Amino acid sequence: MAQAKQYDLIVVGAGFAGLICAARIAEKGVHPKTGEKLKIALIEAGPNLLKNRQKHGFGDPLHRQMIPQILWEEFDTGGLLKSWPWTFGLKVVGGCSIHWGAHMHLPYDVDYENWSAMGISWTKKDMKEAVDDMVQTLHVHADPEEAWTPGERMFRNAAAELGYKFRDFDGAQVNAVEPLLTMRKNCIFCGFHNEGHGCKYDAKGTSLWYLPIAEANGVELIADAEVKKVNIEKRGAGGIVNGVTYEKNGQVLEARSDKVIVSCGWAGSPVLLGKSGYGPKDELGNDLIVGNDNVGRNWDGETNHSFAMLFDQPIKEAGRGTNTSICIMDVDRKYTDGTGTLRINTADLSSINYPHQSALSAFAPAFGKKHMDFMKTAITHLGEITLKCSRPPTHITGRVNVRTGAATYGGDPYIEKRMRDAREIAIELAKKMGAKYLERFPANFKGRGGGHPNGTCRAGSDRRNSVINGDFESHDVKGLFVVDAGSYPRSSINSGSFAALMGAFGARRIIATYFSRGL
Ligand SMILES: Cc1cc2nc3c(=O)[nH]c(=O)nc-3n(C[C@H](O)[C@H](O)[C@H](O)COP(=O)(O)OP(=O)(O)OC[C@H]3O[C@@H](n4cnc5c(N)ncnc54)[C@H](O)[C@@H]3O)c2cc1C
Repeated sequence: MAQAKQYDLIVVGAGFAGLICAARIAEKGVHPKTGEKLKIALIEAGPNLLKNRQKHGFGDPLHRQMIPQILWEEFDTGGLLKSWPWTFGLKVVGGCSIHWGAHMHLPYDVDYENWSAMGISWTKKDMKEAVDDMVQTLHVHADPEEAWTPGERMFRNAAAELGYKFRDFDGAQVNAVEPLLTMRKNCIFCGFHNEGHGCKYDAKGTSLWYLPIAEANGVELIADAEVKKVNIEKRGAGGIVNGVTYEKNGQVLEARSDKVIVSCGWAGSPVLLGKSGYGPKDELGNDLIVGNDNVGRNWDGETNHSFAMLFDQPIKEAGRGTNTSICIMDVDRKYTDGTGTLRINTADLSSINYPHQSALSAFAPAFGKKHMDFMKTAITHLGEITLKCSRPPTHITGRVNVRTGAATYGGDPYIEKRMRDAREIAIELAKKMGAKYLERFPANFKGRGGGHPNGTCRAGSDRRNSVINGDFESHDVKGLFVVDAGSYPRSSINSGSFAALMGAFGARRIIATYFSRGL
């Protein structure tokens, strides 16, 4: 094995959270004794495709060629990118932020309260600087009403008739219609931005926007290099880290550091920790070095369904781009912690449907002239709204197997009931909007959860129900941190914006604990 290089810090995974975290620590952190800049390695299993500088709203000819090939990992195009065997597992510098839909919310007040209920100091005040970092750097904002499509206006009016008034996002969860926020800069509304597509013109917010900050502050990005394990030495009942073992170009290499941040995503992090001998004894058996039953447990996420609609008139305009749009929030007033809050959103009342998608729509006649006539208008007449519900009160959460990454999640009768409430609301909306609708609910629909997964290495003050403390360091292994969608204990919304927030906030906490002058 070649001589191991020594670093002040190694970050594993240059996805949404990892890249942001590495960039901010490199920029603002210093060696506590010398005050000098830190030597940081950022190791990523996937390639660095977008090497040229981002030009928001312009892009770069090379980016334009590459981006269309970076499609959903589920479709595995056999193109440029490989993905991990789990969902939400794109393998590339930028991680899933490359193809996320950029539909986001900032944390609600209940999110801060739920996090703080784990005994950690993650209040709105504590996180303000990190939230502002994201808002400013990634340009978080709502689409102006002038950019809404006719379908979105119809949705807003139908919602008003059902009693949901439009209001700006202010962090309180109440029954209302709200904007979904987005991250875009100089968007030219080309129409190709939506879930599953990267932005050809670099306008969509991704963690790559932090790459120039990382590079300018000396971060050594080691791409196409899979970390095989974090090297953990046993110490008493716990352990310490001393670096990582990784593979690049068929060579097995070692990098040394007494601080390693694992940012491999909701499934990637528990799996890497498992390979490193840290996790639940019942899964690791004799390979166990340090035990913590919560590694891979507490997998949480929303339940998700869609509702297809067909309109007699155009509800969106071909030849223009998509919005991030608006959503109904419907709160279950029995709970004060956001449990069972429904989000009914209009993502597909904005983007035109591609002809091949329209031809396969459940509304499309199978053959002949009827099919031809349908196709003449389908791309602007088909719509869809999505129904989502946040976590059940009974706290039935899922589990990721730390050896395989396979995830299991039990059903929940309460979520099933709330999704049926959502269905009733969606039917009323469709009727008021004058649409034909088709439910996609299976007849024996079970609350399934697990969409936008999170919580698999969650933070808390008690190692009996968590993996890391409020400063993102493992309860059991000194110098080991987890910063990604697995770090936050619970969420009332999508995972991407919170993963980014973990990167920005985790960096600040780790700097305060280890990388400030005179500690
Ligand atoms: C199609 C799609 C659409 C989405 N749309 C939205 C949306 O609109 N709104 C929203 O809020 N969220 C959305 N999400 C979710 C969001 O993208 C993720 O929650 C977010 O990217 C998670 O960030 P992360 O840092 O935890 O993990 P990731 O971004 O997945 O980063 C993990 C990185 O670690 C690397 N890695 C893993 N293991 C190793 C290893 N052993 N060695 C080296 N590197 C490793 C991976 O290759 C990857 O680059 C979407 C996701 C998908 C897939």
